[in-house]
Amino acid sequence: YIQPTNHLRILRASYASMQHSVPPLNDKSLLKSQTYVNGKWIGAKSGQTFEVNDPASGKPIGTMPEMNKEDTEEAIKAAAAAFPSFSKTTGRERAKMLRKWYELMQENAEDLARLITWENGKPLADAKGEVAYAANFFEWFSEEAPRTYGDTIPATVPGNRVYTIRQPIGVAGLITPWNFPAAMITRKIGPALAAGCTVVAKSPGETPFTAAALAELAHRAGIPPGVVNFVTALKNTAEVGEAITSSDTIKKVSFTGSTGVGKLLMKQSADTLKKLSFELGGNAPFIVFDDADLDIAVAGAVASKFRSSGQTCVCANRIYVQKGIYDKFAKALTEKVDNFKVGSGYAEGVTHGPLIHDRAIGKVESHVQDAVKQGGKVLTGGQKMPDLGSNFFQPTVIRDMKDSMKLMSEETFGPVAGLFPFESEAEVVKSANTADVGLAGYFFSKDLQRCYRVAEALEVGMVGINTGLISDPAAPFGGVKQSGFGREGSKYGVEEYQTIKMVTLGGM
Ligand code: NAD
Repeated sequence: YIQPTNHLRILRASYASMQHSVPPLNDKSLLKSQTYVNGKWIGAKSGQTFEVNDPASGKPIGTMPEMNKEDTEEAIKAAAAAFPSFSKTTGRERAKMLRKWYELMQENAEDLARLITWENGKPLADAKGEVAYAANFFEWFSEEAPRTYGDTIPATVPGNRVYTIRQPIGVAGLITPWNFPAAMITRKIGPALAAGCTVVAKSPGETPFTAAALAELAHRAGIPPGVVNFVTALKNTAEVGEAITSSDTIKKVSFTGSTGVGKLLMKQSADTLKKLSFELGGNAPFIVFDDADLDIAVAGAVASKFRSSGQTCVCANRIYVQKGIYDKFAKALTEKVDNFKVGSGYAEGVTHGPLIHDRAIGKVESHVQDAVKQGGKVLTGGQKMPDLGSNFFQPTVIRDMKDSMKLMSEETFGPVAGLFPFESEAEVVKSANTADVGLAGYFFSKDLQRCYRVAEALEVGMVGINTGLISDPAAPFGGVKQSGFGREGSKYGVEEYQTIKMVTLGGM
């Protein structure tokens, strides 16, 4: 019941995949098989390792230490030992370290991008974009580090003087996902170090090599031992997570990942009452009003829905299109999607790579099949691409979506654009806000009053108007509802790693 596939695109994509040869790194010392704790490269105490596979070819890339509770506690101890001296460095000194780390990322951008493509699968051009974005967090927070001002407050009690100082909260535990192997890490470490915190970061099990390369550059940048520590695990992930969340030493946990794991980590952090920031899953509404510029709206949908093959937390998930522009939008988007080139992220001209693993493929397939069963019409795609490899799925556009479909209530996290028709602004805003999550939302319109109205009405943490790309180190990133709380990037990012201490001087 799924329409025939576009054979021309499959053939071109197969050709691209045959060229899947991983280019060697210019600096081979950036590819690690150990992790970085207390300024040293180490393995797990147990000697255990786990294997990481290239999602495009399925072939092994290498192994990393399978760490456990004991290894994690060692890393926490190292971070705690480094905290007293690091927290007393001046903002200017910490700025210089972050700046140096930023410059080293720029100098090694090609190698970092190759690593990202290898372990995550995204096309090399996207991986280069991610490296630039990731490095920018270090640049941005190097500029914020010396400017963490407190307040002088006019007291209401005569004779008192009141002021505040911002102090680093302590050791921070950071847990990040695989979909942006570099940027999710720098977006947390940048502000943590700017504030004067030391960190224990758990690398994603799927993409630990980019994290290790960043650690190598931290070492070269002269970040003191114990300030930045990485623990790695795959099978023992939950054990490592528990060691971080239950630690008395760790005062802050910042997590980016799924809402389900976020809830678990919040419960685990309750006994020690940690400060938390959670960047969790989304289910972004993407609304195209009749008065939108069609080309801009289609370009926005391509960028927002299909970037990283739909594996970003701010990806459009529910694409609402007003009746008057519905057919034209469906046709124009399908034409664009038909021109995508799927294949190895290293192959010339490839626009879309594999998904991360077979579980991701399974979810995407189930959303497509559920939509088709309930009357959705596949305009392009809809199937796996076994001739490319087991983790490839055709970029897909489905029209005539209904609220009862899975894609309405669950984040697809894959390359499927489902189009929902709507009649009125009030109806679409209501429908957009039915989600229990609220990370990003997008809409396209030329009506200025509507732009203000809808931006204010959408229950999300971030809104894109007439654009599908909203990420910027200078702008606060984060969600509402079950997409979490806390903000990363921007002037608000550093606050997540600080406490505000109030001082009252009496007897004046
Ligand atoms: P996930 O929650 O399964 O994993 C995220 C990270 O948490 C990984 O490093 C994983 O190893 C770790 N983890 C998993 N279980 C854990 C546990 N019990 N204890 C400690 N750590 C644990 O998510 P995923 O499937 O890898 O990533 C995709 C999800 O992340 C999507 O829902 C996506 O929306 C979300 N995401 C959100 C943002 C954001 O900024 N809001 C950004 C990227 C991804």
